[in-house]
Amino acid sequence: MSEKMNFKAEVNKMLNIVVNSLYSEKYIFLRELISNASDACDKLKYLMLTNPKAAKNNGELKIVITPNAEENTLKIADNGIGMNKDDLINHLGTIAKSGTSDFVADMKENGSAVDLIGQFGVGFYSAFMVADKVEIVTKKAGEEKAYKWVSDGIDGFEIEETQKDEIGTEIKLFLKKEDKDFTDTIYLRHLITTYSDHISYPIYLNLGKDGEEKINQGLALWARNKSEITKEQYKDFYQHISHNFDEPWLTMHFKAEGNIEYSALLYIPSQQPYDLFQPDKKQGLKLYVNKVFVSDKVEELMPNYLRFVKGVVDSSDLPLNISREMLQQNILIEKIKHGIVSRLLKDLKKRAEKYDDYIKFWNNFGIVLKEGIYEDFANREEIAALSLFASTKTKDKLTTLDAYIERMPKEQQEIYYITGDDVNILANNPQLEVFKQKGIEVLLLVDPIDEFWTQMLLNYKGKTIKHIAQASAELNFDRKEQKADQKQFDKLISEMSAWFKDDVAKVEGTEKLTSSPVSLTTEKGQMNIHLERLMRNHQQQTAFTSSRILEINPYHPLIIKMAEALDNKSKKSEVEKVAKILLDQAKIAEGEPIKDPSFYSATISDYILKSFSN
Ligand code: ADP
Ligand code: MG
Repeated sequence: MSEKMNFKAEVNKMLNIVVNSLYSEKYIFLRELISNASDACDKLKYLMLTNPKAAKNNGELKIVITPNAEENTLKIADNGIGMNKDDLINHLGTIAKSGTSDFVADMKENGSAVDLIGQFGVGFYSAFMVADKVEIVTKKAGEEKAYKWVSDGIDGFEIEETQKDEIGTEIKLFLKKEDKDFTDTIYLRHLITTYSDHISYPIYLNLGKDGEEKINQGLALWARNKSEITKEQYKDFYQHISHNFDEPWLTMHFKAEGNIEYSALLYIPSQQPYDLFQPDKKQGLKLYVNKVFVSDKVEELMPNYLRFVKGVVDSSDLPLNISREMLQQNILIEKIKHGIVSRLLKDLKKRAEKYDDYIKFWNNFGIVLKEGIYEDFANREEIAALSLFASTKTKDKLTTLDAYIERMPKEQQEIYYITGDDVNILANNPQLEVFKQKGIEVLLLVDPIDEFWTQMLLNYKGKTIKHIAQASAELNFDRKEQKADQKQFDKLISEMSAWFKDDVAKVEGTEKLTSSPVSLTTEKGQMNIHLERLMRNHQQQTAFTSSRILEINPYHPLIIKMAEALDNKSKKSEVEKVAKILLDQAKIAEGEPIKDPSFYSATISDYILKSFSN
């Protein structure tokens, strides 16, 4: 008796997209199915070694591809772990992975399925790109019953009990008419050598009466000598383990010898993965013990700020049956991590010498790497040295801290920065006027993490890292222009303090502005405005504006006029109106929301109208 079931709604959506939007690179289905077969062999191998009772020896673990041109079918068989009924329903009838709905949304927008299909772990469904029916016969290690699963990829699937002697899985694709190519042995051989050569189990092509031909080398790539591995093979392996389709930006392959021995094959992608900032996404490296796959996504091998690194670590010094809990406290794991991190940072340093190359990496992952300045106490300075920043002195390129130091006058002891949401808005911040006049460079920091690492790394190569709001009072203009009358100015300040008592903590005169009449800043030792905004956005705290200072420029013609006008009582309300507009403008310059936008626009319109009626 067969049982009929429906796909979960998201599977249906997925299938629809997969089948209907991927025409050009249909052949990727083959590597997805081979990759699943290889995973299944990994799982059985591990089970046999750790729990020999549960799994009988299944002979040589292998993958066999059988085309049949007459039937127009293609079979992919493995003698790996197999699936039971629950596995079939849970793994092939639903999509358990988080982010699937993102996938569907993203595909609708961009239609770039090929790049994403693997990343989301929807590999199996790609079979329906070339097949209008898929039949799976499978038997799980340690179980008696075998099952058959059949689906047309549209109406759900049917499951029934069946007979199968060997443990493992056979996937038979009933190819679409137009996909007959996939029964051609020459084409299949080409596809397997091109895309699946790195698979660590032998892949045989069944040539009918001519027997089986082994196509790939079937060796763990990381265990081979560097000199024997081609760039192509490195790339294929990267694509296999990362589920990405880009070229790796960095490939790093080494063997560490000494008190702990391990080999590592690590990659940095050349594209930013869609889920780099998804907090629930598990990252990490694949761990092998003596070429036996032990665990996927071992986060303990990589610090969080290098979570974009993909790859494999293999050490024969670790016990095979190492559990998740053991990984967390294992001193060897800690040592391997330490070794990997220092190698990676060293390689990055080398690559950073070539700006045009390094910037590609930086644009993808710089924002993550900078978390290391905050997180990794021991490597803090090194990571800071690898970081790039926008600055008031460099237009199209970003600068390093070292280049900043090289440019600065000898007597300067600080590295100045300002933080905000947008480089262009920041570059015009009134608070920078005095720095511009004095020729002092200021870093323009726009990533949220910048607010945090700057609290951790207070010095770099003997220079203090300082927000410009914390700059010393000596940093003033040499001035010759006309200044507001002191008494009138003091009056203006005290009036404004009263008007704005709920908006800012203080109103005061400043020597630091030239072209702007007013500007917002914060008191020394207080959180800067951008950080306040970040925290507010994350609802960390609510009432923040208490520490704001509204600075008034006594040299500005508008301020001088306002101060004079206060001598005339009848003009007071007009001055108040202008002052409110100025406060709004100061907020806008900071990227802050204004209190009453309709008052702001109505007043401005009014002034514009007046300027025409003269
Ligand atoms: P992923 O490989 O990323 O998990 P897939 O869609 O490729 O996603 O496969 C879904 C799941 O189906 C696998 O995780 C595995 O549990 C199961 N599966 C697929 N193919 C096989 C196979 N040949 N042998 C055993 N299990 C398999
Ligand atoms: Mg897969």
